[in-house]
Amino acid sequence: MSTLARFPRVRLTQAPTPLEPLPNLSKLLGGPNLYIKRDDNTGLALGGNKTRKLEFLMGEALAQGATHIVTQGATQSNHVRQTIAAANKLGLRCTVLLEERVSDGAPEYYRNGNVLLDQIMGASIETRPGGIDMNAELIPVGERLRAAGERPYLIPGGGSNPIGALGYVVAAQEIIAQSTEQGLVVDAVVHATGSTGTQAGLVVGMEMANSGIPVLGVSVRQPQARQIENVTRLAQQTWQLLELPGALRPEAVQVNAEYVGAGYGITTEASNATIGLLARTEGILLDPVYSAKGFAGLLDLIRQGHYRAGQNIVFVHTGGAVGLFGYREVLQPDGGLR
Ligand SMILES: *Cc1c(COP(=O)(O)O)cnc(C)c1O
Repeated sequence: MSTLARFPRVRLTQAPTPLEPLPNLSKLLGGPNLYIKRDDNTGLALGGNKTRKLEFLMGEALAQGATHIVTQGATQSNHVRQTIAAANKLGLRCTVLLEERVSDGAPEYYRNGNVLLDQIMGASIETRPGGIDMNAELIPVGERLRAAGERPYLIPGGGSNPIGALGYVVAAQEIIAQSTEQGLVVDAVVHATGSTGTQAGLVVGMEMANSGIPVLGVSVRQPQARQIENVTRLAQQTWQLLELPGALRPEAVQVNAEYVGAGYGITTEASNATIGLLARTEGILLDPVYSAKGFAGLLDLIRQGHYRAGQNIVFVHTGGAVGLFGYREVLQPDGGLR
């Protein structure tokens, strides 16, 4: 679409990702027809939603002549893994800051999963204690690199700024095109929302096309009012960046924060059970931090009758199954086969 074509973009994924039915699970539940948008299959170093954002972020970085990418995330950040992979693919150096945000993580949380892949891919990795302003931490790192003759490009946590959100405007357009092709009337799109770029992009994409498809973000961290505020701010900035006419309808931003549990990165009984359910019925691997909580939320909303038989609901699988290996102790409490 021409409004998006103005922005530099590097292709990092083979779009469109599949939009598939979940026939076994839909039958088992006897509720709405469930579909899944396979953004876990974006392909770059085991994939995930950050790859779409990075197409635009890296496009801007290259346009600015950057030599070194700097970003941050939690220890098991999928965003950090995908950013390192994108930087490597484009021949840029990469420094990442990992926030020790989940204080009681088991040893594998700090070594396996995304951390293992970050190390294999050879980025420069620094750690920071939990609870500080991690995006602010990027600034002195950038200054240090600049003093050393580099041209740093700073990417905020989750790649969630208006440039990154453009990746999910594209995803919304894909969902609209694929559902039209499949003759599918989509009643709602549901996904896990964290740093807000995914939801902001999806909402803008659905609204600018007048699709009439509501997007529900299931929060994995912030309470509802806070997350609505954060998503709305970024969605409005993205709307302005695209120079769209009028304003974004505030009602277009819908968040449910009932499924966070004890906090970010801490699994719940329901999220752990949901990982098993999707794996056993459909052979699909969710992740412990985001998509399992998002899908657990969707299941509960179906149980409550919020989504009903005859409706078509699309869950956006945002990736992250690599994180399963960082949560082995939680997911395999009996210690496995002997
Ligand atoms: C980052 C992430 C999300 C959340 O996306 P945001 O754009 O940060 O809201 C969801 N799922 C997975 C697997 C992620 O890594």
